[in-house]
Amino acid sequence: MIADRLADVRRRVARAALDAGRDPGHVRLLLATKTQPVHLVREALDADARARAEDPALTPVLVGENRVQELVAKGPELAGLATVHLIGPLQSNKVNAALRWASCIESVASLDLAERLSARATATLDVYVQVNVSGEETKHGVEPDAAVALAGEVAALPSLRVAGLMTVGARSDDAAVVRSGYALLRSLRDEVVAAGTQTATELSMGMSGDLELAVAEGATLVRVGSAVFGARPT
Ligand SMILES: *Cc1c(COP(=O)(O)O)cnc(C)c1O
Repeated sequence: MIADRLADVRRRVARAALDAGRDPGHVRLLLATKTQPVHLVREALDADARARAEDPALTPVLVGENRVQELVAKGPELAGLATVHLIGPLQSNKVNAALRWASCIESVASLDLAERLSARATATLDVYVQVNVSGEETKHGVEPDAAVALAGEVAALPSLRVAGLMTVGARSDDAAVVRSGYALLRSLRDEVVAAGTQTATELSMGMSGDLELAVAEGATLVRVGSAVFGARPT
């Protein structure tokens, strides 16, 4: 089941990339594994390994956890099996725990958090600056107007490397609304690079319901949960 759904997601990503005139190899897949037990995450990683054995052009899937508590619980069992990102908000008192198990923090939305990460990181740490492109109040992320300045400040910290920008798309049934948010993240990324942060090439955007729109706007990393694991318990 998971293997079939993963293959289906791979096909969706590839089709969207080709439709946009992009190389499907330039869009990586991150499994958003919140609430999923480790045995199902392993099942997905095994399915991915089998798919890559048949198609060496595929890049390995990554794993993303939302909550530090869950990251810490699953981290020991996932270590060595996949590259793990934190994709949910990080409180400053949990920085050490996050750094123990995640190699990348995608949810940096303040200079304060970035400074704490830089102070605690023992090697260069990849981060994404999370931007709230939709303006929805419930969403984590820096305002679009402040994103370019924040990315420059974060990139100037000694132990951090800004890999790119991340967003959670608008919660809307209107594809044009969702897509314009992704287009905004792309133009902000271009500004960040033009302002001198040349490492910031990545765009982490798109989920199960809207990954095609994100890939059309240049996503380099799509974060997919329910399309691979099924609906989460609510
Ligand atoms: C849960 C989650 C996803 C994946 O959502 P699905 O709709 O299940 O694909 C992606 N990004 C973040 C930050 C998430 O919390």
